[in-house]
Amino acid sequence: MKPGNILTILIFLSTSHSWGSTQFTFKDFKFSPGKTCETGWIDSSFCEATMPKPWTESEYQAMSTLIATVYEGKLPHFLAQILENGFDTFYRYSFSFQRRDQNKYERLDFVGLWVWGVDKSINIADGILNSGDSPLLDPYSKIDIRVFSVFHEMVHAFSMKLAESKEFLDLIGWVPEGTGHIIRGIAPEEMVLAMTQMKKLSNEKKYEELLKLNREFGIKHGFPSAYSMTIPQECFADLAAYIYLDPKVDEYLKPEWIAWFRKNVLN
Ligand SMILES: [Zn+2]
Repeated sequence: MKPGNILTILIFLSTSHSWGSTQFTFKDFKFSPGKTCETGWIDSSFCEATMPKPWTESEYQAMSTLIATVYEGKLPHFLAQILENGFDTFYRYSFSFQRRDQNKYERLDFVGLWVWGVDKSINIADGILNSGDSPLLDPYSKIDIRVFSVFHEMVHAFSMKLAESKEFLDLIGWVPEGTGHIIRGIAPEEMVLAMTQMKKLSNEKKYEELLKLNREFGIKHGFPSAYSMTIPQECFADLAAYIYLDPKVDEYLKPEWIAWFRKNVLN
Protein backbone atom coordinates (compact mmCIF):
# COMPACT_ATOMS: atom_id res chain seq x y z
CA MET A 1 0.00 0.00 0.00
CA LYS A 2 1.22 3.48 -0.78
CA PRO A 3 1.33 6.14 1.92
CA GLY A 4 -1.30 8.07 0.05
CA ASN A 5 -3.78 6.01 1.99
CA ILE A 6 -2.53 7.64 5.14
CA LEU A 7 -1.56 11.19 4.35
CA THR A 8 -4.01 13.74 3.14
CA ILE A 9 -3.97 17.38 2.17
CA LEU A 10 -6.53 20.06 2.50
CA ILE A 11 -7.36 23.18 0.61
CA PHE A 12 -9.53 26.12 1.49
CA LEU A 13 -13.25 25.98 1.04
CA SER A 14 -16.12 27.96 2.42
CA THR A 15 -19.30 26.69 3.97
CA SER A 16 -22.70 27.67 5.26
CA HIS A 17 -25.27 25.93 7.37
CA SER A 18 -28.71 25.77 5.83
CA TRP A 19 -29.50 22.17 5.11
CA GLY A 20 -32.96 20.87 4.42
CA SER A 21 -34.61 17.80 5.80
CA THR A 22 -33.87 15.54 2.80
CA GLN A 23 -32.09 12.31 3.66
CA PHE A 24 -28.95 12.00 1.59
CA THR A 25 -26.87 8.90 1.15
CA PHE A 26 -23.51 8.13 -0.37
CA LYS A 27 -25.35 7.27 -3.60
CA ASP A 28 -26.04 11.00 -4.06
CA PHE A 29 -22.38 11.46 -4.95
CA LYS A 30 -21.20 11.08 -8.55
CA PHE A 31 -18.13 9.31 -9.88
CA SER A 32 -16.30 10.95 -12.79
CA PRO A 33 -12.96 10.62 -14.59
CA GLY A 34 -10.51 13.34 -13.57
CA LYS A 35 -10.37 16.58 -15.49
CA THR A 36 -7.94 17.08 -18.36
CA CYS A 37 -5.80 20.04 -19.40
CA GLU A 38 -8.10 20.34 -22.41
CA THR A 39 -11.15 20.90 -20.22
CA GLY A 40 -10.23 24.12 -18.55
CA TRP A 41 -6.96 23.63 -16.72
CA ILE A 42 -4.75 26.54 -17.55
CA ASP A 43 -1.28 25.08 -17.65
CA SER A 44 0.18 22.14 -19.52
CA SER A 45 2.16 21.17 -16.42
CA PHE A 46 -1.13 19.70 -15.21
CA CYS A 47 -0.91 16.99 -17.88
CA GLU A 48 2.62 16.13 -16.84
CA ALA A 49 1.74 15.95 -13.15
CA THR A 50 -1.23 13.61 -13.45
CA MET A 51 -3.57 11.80 -15.80
CA PRO A 52 -7.35 11.50 -15.57
CA LYS A 53 -8.64 7.94 -15.44
CA PRO A 54 -12.09 6.46 -15.77
CA TRP A 55 -13.50 4.56 -12.80
CA THR A 56 -13.43 0.88 -13.58
CA GLU A 57 -16.44 -1.14 -12.50
CA SER A 58 -14.37 -2.99 -9.89
CA GLU A 59 -12.96 0.25 -8.49
CA TYR A 60 -16.42 1.74 -8.28
CA GLN A 61 -17.70 -1.37 -6.52
CA ALA A 62 -14.75 -1.40 -4.13
CA MET A 63 -15.19 2.26 -3.27
CA SER A 64 -18.96 1.96 -2.89
CA THR A 65 -18.67 -1.08 -0.66
CA LEU A 66 -15.92 0.51 1.36
CA ILE A 67 -17.98 3.55 2.16
CA ALA A 68 -21.61 2.46 2.04
CA THR A 69 -21.44 0.94 5.51
CA VAL A 70 -20.19 4.24 6.89
CA TYR A 71 -22.80 6.50 5.35
CA GLU A 72 -25.85 4.52 4.32
CA GLY A 73 -28.83 5.93 6.17
CA LYS A 74 -26.56 7.81 8.57
CA LEU A 75 -25.27 11.36 9.07
CA PRO A 76 -27.95 13.09 6.94
CA HIS A 77 -26.94 16.63 7.93
CA PHE A 78 -23.24 15.95 7.47
CA LEU A 79 -23.78 14.61 3.94
CA ALA A 80 -26.30 17.32 3.04
CA GLN A 81 -23.83 20.03 4.03
CA ILE A 82 -21.05 18.49 1.94
CA LEU A 83 -23.35 18.38 -1.09
CA GLU A 84 -24.56 21.93 -0.42
CA ASN A 85 -20.91 23.05 -0.31
CA GLY A 86 -20.62 21.72 -3.87
CA PHE A 87 -18.56 18.61 -3.18
CA ASP A 88 -20.70 16.08 -5.02
CA THR A 89 -18.25 14.28 -7.31
CA PHE A 90 -15.36 11.87 -6.84
CA TYR A 91 -12.76 12.39 -9.58
CA ARG A 92 -10.26 9.71 -10.52
CA TYR A 93 -6.61 10.49 -11.27
CA SER A 94 -3.44 8.45 -11.68
CA PHE A 95 -1.50 10.71 -9.30
CA SER A 96 -2.40 13.44 -6.89
CA PHE A 97 -1.18 16.93 -7.68
CA GLN A 98 -0.91 20.38 -6.23
CA ARG A 99 -0.84 23.78 -7.82
CA ARG A 100 2.22 25.91 -7.17
CA ASP A 101 3.01 29.51 -7.98
CA GLN A 102 2.07 30.78 -11.45
CA ASN A 103 -0.42 27.92 -11.67
CA LYS A 104 2.27 25.33 -12.26
CA TYR A 105 1.18 21.87 -11.19
CA GLU A 106 3.32 19.20 -9.61
CA ARG A 107 2.80 15.57 -8.73
CA LEU A 108 2.39 14.52 -5.10
CA ASP A 109 3.34 10.90 -4.77
CA PHE A 110 2.46 10.58 -1.10
CA VAL A 111 -1.19 11.60 -1.31
CA GLY A 112 -3.98 9.24 -2.37
CA LEU A 113 -7.08 11.22 -1.55
CA TRP A 114 -7.67 14.94 -1.34
CA VAL A 115 -10.32 17.64 -1.56
CA TRP A 116 -9.74 20.78 -3.58
CA GLY A 117 -11.66 23.98 -2.90
CA VAL A 118 -10.82 25.50 -6.29
CA ASP A 119 -13.26 23.29 -8.20
CA LYS A 120 -15.05 21.68 -5.24
CA SER A 121 -13.68 18.26 -6.05
CA ILE A 122 -13.06 15.11 -4.06
CA ASN A 123 -10.15 13.40 -5.78
CA ILE A 124 -8.81 9.90 -5.66
CA ALA A 125 -5.47 8.67 -6.99
CA ASP A 126 -4.23 5.13 -7.56
CA GLY A 127 -2.71 4.82 -4.09
CA ILE A 128 -6.01 4.70 -2.26
CA LEU A 129 -7.51 1.98 -4.45
CA ASN A 130 -4.60 -0.31 -5.18
CA SER A 131 -4.07 -1.96 -1.81
CA GLY A 132 -5.61 -5.25 -2.88
CA ASP A 133 -7.03 -7.78 -0.48
CA SER A 134 -4.88 -6.89 2.50
CA PRO A 135 -5.45 -3.21 3.24
CA LEU A 136 -3.76 -1.55 6.17
CA LEU A 137 -5.89 -1.55 9.29
CA ASP A 138 -6.01 1.05 12.00
CA PRO A 139 -3.96 -0.49 14.84
CA TYR A 140 -6.61 0.35 17.46
CA SER A 141 -10.04 -0.04 15.89
CA LYS A 142 -8.89 -2.53 13.21
CA ILE A 143 -10.93 -0.61 10.64
CA ASP A 144 -9.63 -0.34 7.05
CA ILE A 145 -7.48 2.79 7.02
CA ARG A 146 -8.99 3.78 3.67
CA VAL A 147 -12.32 4.25 5.42
CA PHE A 148 -10.69 6.70 7.83
CA SER A 149 -8.99 8.50 4.94
CA VAL A 150 -12.22 8.97 3.00
CA PHE A 151 -14.07 10.12 6.09
CA HIS A 152 -11.27 12.53 7.01
CA GLU A 153 -11.47 14.17 3.58
CA MET A 154 -15.24 14.40 3.74
CA VAL A 155 -14.86 16.33 7.00
CA HIS A 156 -12.72 18.91 5.15
CA ALA A 157 -15.48 19.14 2.54
CA PHE A 158 -18.04 19.58 5.33
CA SER A 159 -16.39 22.67 6.82
CA MET A 160 -13.06 24.42 7.04
CA LYS A 161 -14.60 27.39 8.82
CA LEU A 162 -15.59 25.43 11.90
CA ALA A 163 -12.01 24.17 12.23
CA GLU A 164 -10.87 27.79 12.42
CA SER A 165 -13.58 28.90 14.85
CA LYS A 166 -12.66 30.23 18.27
CA GLU A 167 -15.08 27.73 19.78
CA PHE A 168 -13.18 24.77 18.32
CA LEU A 169 -9.70 26.20 18.96
CA ASP A 170 -10.55 26.96 22.60
CA LEU A 171 -12.17 23.56 23.12
CA ILE A 172 -9.03 21.71 22.05
CA GLY A 173 -6.46 24.16 23.42
CA TRP A 174 -5.01 25.55 20.17
CA VAL A 175 -3.24 28.87 20.81
CA PRO A 176 -1.78 31.32 18.28
CA GLU A 177 1.96 31.04 17.70
CA GLY A 178 3.66 33.00 14.94
CA THR A 179 1.52 32.69 11.82
CA GLY A 180 -0.15 29.48 12.99
CA HIS A 181 -1.24 27.64 16.12
CA ILE A 182 0.24 25.24 18.63
CA ILE A 183 -1.43 23.07 21.25
CA ARG A 184 -1.15 24.42 24.77
CA GLY A 185 0.98 22.12 26.93
CA ILE A 186 2.64 20.18 24.09
CA ALA A 187 6.33 20.93 23.57
CA PRO A 188 6.94 21.87 19.92
CA GLU A 189 10.21 19.92 19.99
CA GLU A 190 8.29 16.75 20.84
CA MET A 191 6.03 17.30 17.81
CA VAL A 192 9.02 17.87 15.54
CA LEU A 193 10.61 14.65 16.77
CA ALA A 194 7.44 12.62 16.15
CA MET A 195 6.99 14.12 12.67
CA THR A 196 10.63 13.39 11.80
CA GLN A 197 10.22 9.78 12.87
CA MET A 198 7.00 9.44 10.87
CA LYS A 199 8.59 10.93 7.77
CA LYS A 200 11.47 8.47 8.10
CA LEU A 201 9.08 5.51 8.37
CA SER A 202 7.18 6.80 5.34
CA ASN A 203 10.38 7.07 3.29
CA GLU A 204 11.29 3.54 4.33
CA LYS A 205 7.78 2.39 3.33
CA LYS A 206 7.20 1.00 6.84
CA TYR A 207 3.54 1.92 6.81
CA GLU A 208 2.33 -0.32 9.62
CA GLU A 209 4.93 1.17 11.96
CA LEU A 210 4.03 4.63 10.73
CA LEU A 211 0.35 4.10 11.55
CA LYS A 212 1.26 2.69 14.96
CA LEU A 213 3.48 5.64 15.86
CA ASN A 214 0.88 8.10 14.53
CA ARG A 215 -1.77 6.64 16.82
CA GLU A 216 0.43 5.97 19.87
CA PHE A 217 1.88 9.46 19.95
CA GLY A 218 -1.54 11.07 19.65
CA ILE A 219 -3.23 8.86 22.23
CA LYS A 220 -0.40 9.45 24.70
CA HIS A 221 -1.39 13.14 24.59
CA GLY A 222 -5.16 12.64 24.56
CA PHE A 223 -5.53 13.04 20.78
CA PRO A 224 -6.46 10.40 18.20
CA SER A 225 -3.20 10.73 16.21
CA ALA A 226 0.03 12.69 15.83
CA TYR A 227 -1.37 14.04 12.55
CA SER A 228 -4.29 15.57 14.47
CA MET A 229 -1.76 17.60 16.47
CA THR A 230 -0.13 19.31 13.46
CA ILE A 231 -2.60 22.07 12.56
CA PRO A 232 -6.21 22.87 13.59
CA GLN A 233 -7.72 21.79 10.25
CA GLU A 234 -6.16 18.33 10.41
CA CYS A 235 -7.07 18.13 14.08
CA PHE A 236 -10.71 18.84 13.20
CA ALA A 237 -10.83 16.26 10.40
CA ASP A 238 -9.04 13.51 12.30
CA LEU A 239 -11.06 14.03 15.48
CA ALA A 240 -14.34 13.76 13.58
CA ALA A 241 -13.18 10.65 11.72
CA TYR A 242 -11.96 8.78 14.79
CA ILE A 243 -14.90 9.83 16.96
CA TYR A 244 -17.27 8.46 14.34
CA LEU A 245 -15.35 5.34 13.35
CA ASP A 246 -13.32 4.15 16.36
CA PRO A 247 -15.55 2.38 18.91
CA LYS A 248 -12.79 2.77 21.53
CA VAL A 249 -12.52 6.53 21.20
CA ASP A 250 -13.96 7.22 24.65
CA GLU A 251 -10.96 5.43 26.16
CA TYR A 252 -8.58 8.20 25.11
CA LEU A 253 -10.52 11.35 24.17
CA LYS A 254 -12.13 13.90 26.48
CA PRO A 255 -15.92 13.36 26.72
CA GLU A 256 -16.56 17.06 26.01
CA TRP A 257 -14.66 16.82 22.71
CA ILE A 258 -16.72 13.78 21.69
CA ALA A 259 -19.96 15.52 22.69
CA TRP A 260 -19.04 18.68 20.75
CA PHE A 261 -18.37 16.73 17.56
CA ARG A 262 -21.55 14.68 17.86
CA LYS A 263 -23.55 17.90 18.27
CA ASN A 264 -21.82 20.05 15.63
CA VAL A 265 -20.53 17.69 12.93
CA LEU A 266 -21.61 14.07 13.23
CA ASN A 267 -25.35 14.21 12.79
ZN1 LIG B 1 -6.69 16.43 5.96
